[in-house]
Amino acid sequence: MPKKFGIANALLIARGMHIGVIALLGWLAFGFGLPWPAWAGIAVVAFLLGYEHSLVKADDLSKLDAAFFTVNGYISMLFLLFWGAAAAVWRVEFFDGFEMSELTITDQQLKPIADKVFAGERLSIDDGIRLYRSPDLLAVGWLANYVREKKHGNVTYFNVNRHINPTNICVAHCKLCAFGRDPNAPGAYNFSLEEIYARAEQGAREGALEFHIVGGLHPDLPFEYFWK
Ligand code: SF4
Repeated sequence: MPKKFGIANALLIARGMHIGVIALLGWLAFGFGLPWPAWAGIAVVAFLLGYEHSLVKADDLSKLDAAFFTVNGYISMLFLLFWGAAAAVWRVEFFDGFEMSELTITDQQLKPIADKVFAGERLSIDDGIRLYRSPDLLAVGWLANYVREKKHGNVTYFNVNRHINPTNICVAHCKLCAFGRDPNAPGAYNFSLEEIYARAEQGAREGALEFHIVGGLHPDLPFEYFWK
């Protein structure tokens, strides 16, 4: 830019773009109703950008490096810090005000289970099977979320799992699939049981609590391969 427009004009353009950035950040913070750390971050960034421009003059570029590298480095870090905090506070405020919708049950078999859930009673194996077979997924999900929020509030836990795909050789040719291969196609593979055990061991060492094992429909693997 300095070469094309001259140093003074390039600095003016940079100033205009920086003002535009501050305006854009303000618009985002206002539009999303971001909390005070976002505004504090904008103030800090605006101050530092102003300081950056005070370091560089058209007839004195001796502090160009300090302006471009040092100050910009601080701006990036502080922006991340303030807006990260703003996003965290915003998220908590947003989801705290989130009310669960009313429960609607279309599968009447779920009614006695819902009564047990509301009474805090333990479900039986038969209840579990009925839940598993129910086509009323929204009600099942609602009840599951009800229990989760009752036990843990607005906190969700995830387990650490490891996917093991024993083979990508598959005869099904599903149209959506980018994983399956014909037996002799490039990239086709088939893990031995030892390789699978080694991957499982490595996963367990790295903290996996669950293994998700799924693979292609191999035409020749015997039942024992899966059974073992
Ligand atoms: S790997 Fe799974 S999704 Fe892919 S073609 Fe085979 S069965 Fe279908």
